[in-house]
Amino acid sequence: MRTLKPDLYTTPESPTSVPELRGGRCRCGYVFFPMQSYGCEKCGLTGEAVTPALLRSEGSLTASARVLLHAAKDRTPPFVVVAVRLDAGPVVRSLLDRDRAEQLPIGTRMRGLLTEVGKADDGEAIVDLRFTPVPSA
Ligand SMILES: [Zn+2]
Repeated sequence: MRTLKPDLYTTPESPTSVPELRGGRCRCGYVFFPMQSYGCEKCGLTGEAVTPALLRSEGSLTASARVLLHAAKDRTPPFVVVAVRLDAGPVVRSLLDRDRAEQLPIGTRMRGLLTEVGKADDGEAIVDLRFTPVPSA
């Protein structure tokens, strides 16, 4: 299994574990994603004030849109774009793990998972982060 964007998220040891996003945290408490070292966008501190932080890919749906037509030939619709507010704070935009005609309600609990998106030349699976609704208890 090969991760498509290892700079953006971790690859859990177990396939059932939730991947973590590689974000950052400022000394002022502001949390952001992805990690960058230009400085805090809230208070302006730079350098050692800004440190990497692993953010659990769990949160609540804030928006979704089903794409039925896309200009890029390598993006085959239909697919669903989602915005998820992580419990850690930042809002991330990603894709739903599978197409879904029925719209998910805003506030739906979501979690990240690694989904196979293709095969490498040697046949190894290539995985990328997607979000899926958490079944309600
Ligand atoms: Zn700050």
